[in-house]
Amino acid sequence: MTRDDIKEEFGVTCPHWEPCDCLVDGADFMADEILKLRTAIERVRALHERETRTSRFGSIVWHLCPRCRDDGGDPLEHPCPTLRALDGEDA
Ligand SMILES: [Zn+2]
Ligand SMILES: [Zn+2]
Repeated sequence: MTRDDIKEEFGVTCPHWEPCDCLVDGADFMADEILKLRTAIERVRALHERETRTSRFGSIVWHLCPRCRDDGGDPLEHPCPTLRALDGEDA
């Protein structure tokens, strides 16, 4: 994903062929910020990617977060509070 993709997505591309001042400076800044935030979110998501564990006889499947632990040091269920917070839900 690039700055231009973001500007396209938010409909803030300059419609003029000739160089001009309309929106463009602000739009570039905004697009760069959105790009940065999205990249950061992707990094966090990658760190908290779902881990699947199966019990010895395969009868139980757990979806766990490889990073988050409860107070006793056990892995937390996926999606973990970190991911839920990213999705805008209360942890
Ligand atoms: Zn323009
Ligand atoms: Zn987690």
